[in-house]
Amino acid sequence: MNVDFIIVGQGLAGSALAMALIERDASVIVIDSEDENSASRVAAGLVTTVAGKGMNLSWRQAEYLPEALSYYKKLEEISGKKLFHPLETLRLFDGDKQSAKFHNKREQLAGWVRDAEIADLEKWNAAHGGFIMKNGGWLDSKTYLQVVRKLLAGRYRVDAFSEKDLVYIEGGVSWKEITAKRVILCQGARAFTEKGLFSSLNHRSAKGEILTVKIPKADQGKIINRNGWLIPIGNERWRVGANYEWEDMDGKITQAGRDEIERKLRNLTDKSFEVIEHCAGVRPIMRKSQPYVGHHPHHPEVSFFNGLGSKGVTTAPSVARHFADHLVTGSQIDVDLSL
Ligand SMILES: Cc1cc2nc3c(=O)[nH]c(=O)nc-3n(C[C@H](O)[C@H](O)[C@H](O)COP(=O)(O)OP(=O)(O)OC[C@H]3O[C@@H](n4cnc5c(N)ncnc54)[C@H](O)[C@@H]3O)c2cc1C
Repeated sequence: MNVDFIIVGQGLAGSALAMALIERDASVIVIDSEDENSASRVAAGLVTTVAGKGMNLSWRQAEYLPEALSYYKKLEEISGKKLFHPLETLRLFDGDKQSAKFHNKREQLAGWVRDAEIADLEKWNAAHGGFIMKNGGWLDSKTYLQVVRKLLAGRYRVDAFSEKDLVYIEGGVSWKEITAKRVILCQGARAFTEKGLFSSLNHRSAKGEILTVKIPKADQGKIINRNGWLIPIGNERWRVGANYEWEDMDGKITQAGRDEIERKLRNLTDKSFEVIEHCAGVRPIMRKSQPYVGHHPHHPEVSFFNGLGSKGVTTAPSVARHFADHLVTGSQIDVDLSL
């Protein structure tokens, strides 16, 4: 088999890149070992427009979010499946200091936020008040990956890629019986936790755990956020998370992780809940918490797309489009995205 590009990994990075390359008439094959705890398979898929304790707009959000939403919408139209669930978020303050900070920043956040209604605040433990984030929601990332996989029919293979089997040939590479101009590694955190061509890159990946819980009779009209989040997914079920663990990169669930998330939940509501599912994955975070694309300095036919961090849903489609343009036309890589 002869293709233009071998893509390793069908997470948020590899999926968006494969779609962008196919749109540009390139031929691809995607190889994925279908790791159960890959970040994209466990991710909450949240788009949080005013993020973190600092309550800042995410990097390039005004540019990247509209492109991401139209990308998911197009796939919804093609597949007939609901992928992105637009939903406002009730962001609760953790103290009066945070509330004051928000009011100082309010002008900068115009267009992204509005006042919270008392009726909403009364449904949660919201002693310090809060505000509403507009323009967000959540991506059903499992369904999204299935939709892309279906669109890749005949161009997708379940297999474990090993760099040991990669042979450098004139004009490209070969791997097993496939020859290609280039192989693009979209391996998420495994690019750093396993030894490989890019594992020496500066990264600070973070494991995260998520619970799915049932909370009878809690209003499911909004995502709730305070030092963690609560996403309504229907039928009284919610996804709750996530913690950040910086040392342990095995991607396995832990009792300590579960306890931490249950504590976050108890801080938000006095209602009783039942844990239905518990999962974990590792976020691939690189310097500046931004995505990066590029080529290996000694093996230019081996490329890389990674570093989606905690914002893969928003950033992957635009970065994939930009990298696909570069791969197909040779256009310059944006310096801020360049390895
Ligand atoms: C707990 C948690 C919560 C998160 N919440 C959010 C959120 O709310 N919003 C948001 O935007 N982001 C969130 N993220 C981050 C987001 O999930 C990641 O940024 C994104 O999924 C990374 O995608 P990726 O394609 O780079 O990597 P991955 O999802 O890890 O995909 C890599 C793929 O490569 C395959 N692979 C790797 N090595 C090989 C190999 N050698 N051979 C074959 N296949 C291979 C794996 O099977 C996998 O499918 C969260 C992450 C975690 C862990």
